[in-house]
Amino acid sequence: MSNLERRPEETSGGGLATVSHRPTRTVLAPREVPLGGPRAMVVRRTLPHRELRTVGAWCFVDDYGPASPADPRMVVPPHPHTGLQTVTWLQSGEVLHQDSLGHEQVVEPGALNLMTAGHGITHAETATPTSPPLRGVQLWVALPDADRATAPDFEHHAALPLVSDGGLSATVLLGSLAGAQSPATTFTPIVGADVSVGAGVGGELALNPSWEHAVLALSAGLAVDGDPVPEGALVYLGCGRDRLSFASDGALGTGAHALLLGGEPFGEELLMWWNFVARTHDEVVTARDEWTAAVGGAATRFGQVTAYDGPALPAPALPGTRLRPRGSRP
Ligand code: MN
Repeated sequence: MSNLERRPEETSGGGLATVSHRPTRTVLAPREVPLGGPRAMVVRRTLPHRELRTVGAWCFVDDYGPASPADPRMVVPPHPHTGLQTVTWLQSGEVLHQDSLGHEQVVEPGALNLMTAGHGITHAETATPTSPPLRGVQLWVALPDADRATAPDFEHHAALPLVSDGGLSATVLLGSLAGAQSPATTFTPIVGADVSVGAGVGGELALNPSWEHAVLALSAGLAVDGDPVPEGALVYLGCGRDRLSFASDGALGTGAHALLLGGEPFGEELLMWWNFVARTHDEVVTARDEWTAAVGGAATRFGQVTAYDGPALPAPALPGTRLRPRGSRP
């Protein structure tokens, strides 16, 4: 997935002033972002948020669908990334990933597509022609300065560890949770897990108390630590918790579904613009110039997605002001 906002801007505003080193509870509402085009797919974005820019190294959280069968098929043409990893995780549907390293991989519910952009990569993501209606999340993980120029890579993981407690079951997508370790490559202490609870039941997960955590409600009827979380919202929980409970409202009869995101608070400032996670304005200008050359057919660090039939996505215009890196809180 690409950040297709026509005028991507740095977020700013008041709110959480610092990383909370004690347990806290701040419910952040999503904002709806059209991904471009007259009949655009709309995603619900909770990171970056005007009150919160990162949770651990997680720096971008889009939740989308369920698409209706009448919606246009999701097609995100070739576009570049730097300085991050992309995580594609579906609840329903099928998405084909094609990249400039030559990978072509369909991802289905229960499997993880993880792309490490490092110094630079290009990919396209399209729903397959036979895909059921899409429901999923697209997440970005910021790479620390020491690793952000690493060589690009792509991984597909169909077998991921499961953690269970009572009526709760969690699939560990990235990092570690309650002693279970995902096989996916990571660069910072982190966790990302898909959490399901049965109707009217719940369970607990052991957390690393030195990490900060947040939970994205992927369904109605979710309660975290005893309090309901509205569907689509991200609840920021701070650091200092060694356990977290999840439960579902039995009256709905459907169970509940969530995404647990956490990690060591990310201590570096980031400059996020379009599909680049950088540190300086000049770095973004260089990446944008190279991408523009790549769209014109030039050989650059971004390569070409030769398997994709169609034009690449041009970069939007830069704003007239110099972009500035920001900390994890505004
Ligand atoms: Mn992308």
